[in-house]
Amino acid sequence: MNPSCSRRVLLKGLVAAAGAGAVAGTVRAVVAAPEAAARLDPRDPAAVALGYVTDAASVDPKKEPSYLAGHSCANCMQLQGTAGEPYRPCGAFAGKLVDVKGWCRAWTPEM
Ligand code: SF4
Repeated sequence: MNPSCSRRVLLKGLVAAAGAGAVAGTVRAVVAAPEAAARLDPRDPAAVALGYVTDAASVDPKKEPSYLAGHSCANCMQLQGTAGEPYRPCGAFAGKLVDVKGWCRAWTPEM
């Protein structure tokens, strides 16, 4: 085989492999992005309306009289999804994931 021809074949193979890698990386990013994008932002108007915070320990009981020590998303009936996940769906914020260490005024005791 002509050396320049084999070099051309090698370069085509490298370009094709790099393209496949880029596509695979893009697919992984698109698949991973929805979960990351779905986390509830405490500045979201719906979150602000219910006083959502990502860390229940930061709640000031004087400003939030319905908050009691020990309450958090982790022990709220509204929390859904898989135990052990740090961010999970919540019945009060459809389509969003809340931090299990968080809290809001819609906290409901587990049955
Ligand atoms: S309703 Fe419950 S699980 Fe949802 S954000 Fe409020 S405290 Fe957390």
